[in-house]
Amino acid sequence: LEKAIVGVDIGGTNTVIGVFDGSMSLVKKHTFPTLKPDFPKKTNNPSLFLDALAWEITRLVNESGYTGRLESVGMGVPGQVDPVGGMVLGAANLAWYNVPVAEEMSRRLGVPVRIDNDVRIYILGETLAGAGKGYTNIIGLTLGTGLAACTIVEGRILRGSNLFAGEIGHDTVKGVTFQCNCGKIGCLETVASASGIARLAAEAVRAGRETSLSALGSSITSYDVYQACVNGDAVAKEVFDFVGTVLGEKLLTAVFLINPEMIIIGGGAAAGEYLLRPIRAVLEQQYTQKSPLLSIGQLGDSAGLIGAAHFAKKGDLR
Ligand SMILES: [Zn+2]
Repeated sequence: LEKAIVGVDIGGTNTVIGVFDGSMSLVKKHTFPTLKPDFPKKTNNPSLFLDALAWEITRLVNESGYTGRLESVGMGVPGQVDPVGGMVLGAANLAWYNVPVAEEMSRRLGVPVRIDNDVRIYILGETLAGAGKGYTNIIGLTLGTGLAACTIVEGRILRGSNLFAGEIGHDTVKGVTFQCNCGKIGCLETVASASGIARLAAEAVRAGRETSLSALGSSITSYDVYQACVNGDAVAKEVFDFVGTVLGEKLLTAVFLINPEMIIIGGGAAAGEYLLRPIRAVLEQQYTQKSPLLSIGQLGDSAGLIGAAHFAKKGDLR
């Protein structure tokens, strides 16, 4: 009998579970709030959450008609994750430190459990089933509260010597003077992120620029900036032009190093062509070889689930 694979995407606010059939199609999906009873106290044993997660997985598998036929589980966790040891070394948004998540979940469920960093799992999903399908050299970025990246080279996820590969958000940009959450000044993610885009728009309003965004007062979001672009607002377009140009210049170095087939931009602040156009312009002007394709993520919230399920089954691409 066919068995089910489960993908899990743990977020700071919500956790999403997806049950997949033998051909890796999503059968059923469930979202529930991420329990953080110990938060903000650090914990190495978030047992209440892991119990609840195991219970929700079992319930969803049973409801999907796969009672007793779960094959394996893959999970994306926001933080520093050692996929070999199955350990979450540090996840600040959850206050988890040195949690043996794979072993704990495997004990509860009685099947193999694999975990990795959520951005890597998301980009793996986009690579296998979304924007990057068919390609094996990919740079993926997610623009949300911050900026994170995942690079896939010849089918393997690059993790780095301390699992910090992809922390490009904290590379500094000359001329940018915003304070970053990491303590440095002028990090890339202080402009190239949802919060960065909102902040640049707020600065333009404060400087007295003529823009529809000034009607929103101090509570501008990156989505407002996107909407203003759609409505033809020149200042909003300038914000995306600036962010895209800065991002393109940083990506250029990575493109020279890796020679990817594709760059995927995902996350809440992706904003389609408004962001892609200036990035593409930088690469086409300055890269001396064929420019990589540029695409927005295609799978939305499902990318993490699909990536996690594939990771459960096979690990990396090969
Ligand atoms: Zn920083």
